[in-house]
Amino acid sequence: MPTRRPESAALDRLLGQVHRCQLCRDLPLGPRPILQAASAARILIAGQAPGHRAHASGIPFDDPSGDRLRDWLGVDRGVFYNPAYFAILPMGFCYPGSRRGGDLPPRPECAPEWRSALLEHLPSIRLTLVIGVHAMRWHWPDTAPGTSVTRLVRDWRNYWPARLPMPHPSPRNNRWLKQNPHFEAEVLPALRRRVERLVRA
Ligand code: SF4
Repeated sequence: MPTRRPESAALDRLLGQVHRCQLCRDLPLGPRPILQAASAARILIAGQAPGHRAHASGIPFDDPSGDRLRDWLGVDRGVFYNPAYFAILPMGFCYPGSRRGGDLPPRPECAPEWRSALLEHLPSIRLTLVIGVHAMRWHWPDTAPGTSVTRLVRDWRNYWPARLPMPHPSPRNNRWLKQNPHFEAEVLPALRRRVERLVRA
């Protein structure tokens, strides 16, 4: 029987603790952490929080946002859901509920409780996709208050190739994409080339 590498076993133990987490007992549908990680992962997707559909299926980005994200990355579901390629660690691991037709922000308890410990077990990450304002605040804590996603994405080359600020791939952002055509024209081709290289490495 093959022996697990020590770093994989430590990450597995930590993931087990995350999956038993009951910190946010008042979540509308209860705790159900949805994440993906392996110590070999090369690309980290730092998103917001699972949506209602992901909560039901237990699969991250199992919705139209995920379809668009995979298109942006140039990968199919088989590559996307291979934890040796992609770690998927949103800022909140459980569905936070919704309000006025939109999802609530990620639970603020989650990142301080788990994020740093999990990232310590991902030594092979070469590219972090920082999606949306909550992930941006955590991954760039020195960013001036009020700095918009639009501005960070406009200045994406400042962070490239280790990190990439991105809008959320939700269909709700179609207007933003129309107003910021450089994202699809400039950023996505560079992103697809880098993802292809990292997956092949
Ligand atoms: S959102 Fe995070 S901290 Fe809250 S119950 Fe889920 S895993 Fe635990």
